[in-house]
Amino acid sequence: MQINEFPMTRGSRLIIERLRSRGYLAYAVGGAVRDFIMGREYNDIDITTNALPDEVTDVFSDMRVIDTGIKHGTVTVVSMGEPTEITTFRADGKYSDGRRPGSISFVRTLKEDLARRDFTMNAVCYGPGEGYIDMFGGIADISGRTIRAIGDPETRFTEDALRILRAARFSAQLDFYPEERTLEAAASCRALLRSVSAERICAEWMKLVGAPGAPRALSVFSPVIAEFLPEAEPVCRSEYTKQVFDSLGVDPAFRTGALFAMPVIWGEKRADKAVYDFRSSAARLRFDRKSASAGEAIVLGCSRSTASLRDALRLASEIGVKEASACLRIMAAAGGGDPGLAAELEQAVANGTCISISSLAVNGDDLMKLGMRGREIGNALTAMLGKVIDGEIENSRAALLGWCRKHYHSFSNK
Ligand code: ATP
Ligand code: MG
Repeated sequence: MQINEFPMTRGSRLIIERLRSRGYLAYAVGGAVRDFIMGREYNDIDITTNALPDEVTDVFSDMRVIDTGIKHGTVTVVSMGEPTEITTFRADGKYSDGRRPGSISFVRTLKEDLARRDFTMNAVCYGPGEGYIDMFGGIADISGRTIRAIGDPETRFTEDALRILRAARFSAQLDFYPEERTLEAAASCRALLRSVSAERICAEWMKLVGAPGAPRALSVFSPVIAEFLPEAEPVCRSEYTKQVFDSLGVDPAFRTGALFAMPVIWGEKRADKAVYDFRSSAARLRFDRKSASAGEAIVLGCSRSTASLRDALRLASEIGVKEASACLRIMAAAGGGDPGLAAELEQAVANGTCISISSLAVNGDDLMKLGMRGREIGNALTAMLGKVIDGEIENSRAALLGWCRKHYHSFSNK
């Protein structure tokens, strides 16, 4: 495979040249090299070197050096405005709990450093003037779109179970397929994920589920998903997941909600059970608040019957326009709901259809002037919003105040 020279950025080139001029080895490695070979955009260029962290700090004493994880051999140097991570050649000691290296040791050779990396595709490095150094067949695996553990997959997953989830995440992001033994080991070692922190699982999950190749990766890695999202696992294997995700866009919280909502749409699960399952999963994996409530809104919204634009507007007034529109798309893709309703809803809202109390032509002060107090006001506003959405009252001051005067007693009696 003919690959162009890796385009070092000015900052990373300067770092490598400086380290080399002091007699050290230094290469670009990891995700950026992999992504360039694939023709994908990449961000940060990671550098690997045999200089010890203190030596790196010394070499770049005239630049800003940030201690990213000196104990693990990583410092960040800000070179020409680019923060660049420089990691000393290292081998990970025996992992005591499948989570973090029990001890790490710095090693002398590039080969030892590359051997401790997770997958062959992540162990290709590049040296300016030297070209690519590919000791584990990473370039062939990149061109074959294959995820292959370096060394014995079971050993590597036992050392660090997060790699199991990284395999699934890369599969979704890059549209790669795991090689047979790597996939078998991912499934057989999946219980080790219990020792990985919720935060790290959550971070990988969000990247995985929001990636373009998520439907296939979810299906291929469904035994792994079952380990931390057991209720979502059957849907991961469903043929509908692809069309649901495609219709929905990439929002990871919406997509996660969809996985819990689909059995409700199919009549296989009660809505309150699905909401409960989603809520407990989100709490267990420590979803951030926004993702937890967005996903829950999706599960709840997908349990509503939404046959008409009015139903859709009512749903939007309860859970938000974006959320309601997502639910309509999920329901259309998974269960034969009206495929045009989401766009109709968005259009109606864009045209100014009132779906919130704050857009009513009257407000709380107006109702106080009519003599209403406290909860009566909220109740009246909510009732009016319902009538406006249903097209029973026009959203004008005169119509709303007229309606209120007429129904005043029904609120003040509450
Ligand atoms: P991304 O595009 O997501 O940044 P990446 O491959 O650069 O992907 P990073 O998490 O940035 O991933 O890690 C940089 C490199 O460090 C990887 O390419 C890999 O060589 C190595 N690495 C990272 N995490 C692990 C791990 N858990 N086990 C072994 N090697 C790892
Ligand atoms: Mg990276």
